[in-house]
Amino acid sequence: MSARVVIAGNWKMNMTPSQARQFISELTPMVAGKDKCDIVLCVPYVDIPAAVEAAKGTNIRIGAENVHFEDKGAFTGEVSCAMLKEVGAEYVIIGHSERRQYFGETDETVNLRTKAALAAGFKVLLCLGEVKEQRLAGITDEVVSMQTKLDLAGISAEEMKNVIITYEPVWAIGTGLTATPEQADETCGVIRATVASLYGEEVAEALTIQYGGSMNDKNAAELLAKANVNGGLIGGASLIPEKFTAIVDAANA
Ligand code: PEP
Repeated sequence: MSARVVIAGNWKMNMTPSQARQFISELTPMVAGKDKCDIVLCVPYVDIPAAVEAAKGTNIRIGAENVHFEDKGAFTGEVSCAMLKEVGAEYVIIGHSERRQYFGETDETVNLRTKAALAAGFKVLLCLGEVKEQRLAGITDEVVSMQTKLDLAGISAEEMKNVIITYEPVWAIGTGLTATPEQADETCGVIRATVASLYGEEVAEALTIQYGGSMNDKNAAELLAKANVNGGLIGGASLIPEKFTAIVDAANA
């Protein structure tokens, strides 16, 4: 089985609920019927109800940008799987580099969050990738392979059906620097080989591996043409309907 292409937006800390509603009403006709990929918008928690309502009956699915691993309790500022389920989120980003960099997330907490989200029935966009110093030191393959193993620890082959791995070289996120299509393909290939070593070829081939890091309307087609790149997680360009649609178009070409 070949991997399904998934084009996902990561809005980060942008857009209010009314702006989310407006954005989705603009985007809906622009992406209607473009069904060679799944289309997902991961939005701030407070935007989720408005986004779910606006996306009802469309081919746009809504996700969150993180979730906590505990069911409930004294975790000020965090949100549980049950809370996200009740407001209609279907996807969740876990392990984004901004969470790792600014909010102390580790492979251990990423793994705990991923396991909880899968148990609750979410599709998980599991983000990993090397920092600039690691790429320059020539250890990218080791880094992504180790992250893949640590972040997926204890996750079954059956649960892998709901996992999307998002390869994001940290040096390319929000910087305007993009990995070359060859670099993206090669490192996504390393991740796929690592998954094959853990779960076998069939699971690895069916796994969606996205690229993320300054993907935009100009470079998407080249990146998405690579065999190991099955979609993208898009930050900046997901805030502009025309640019996000151009990426969806590239995935539908
Ligand atoms: C991201 O937030 O995951 C991302 C890839 O951002 P950008 O597209 O802005 O680099």
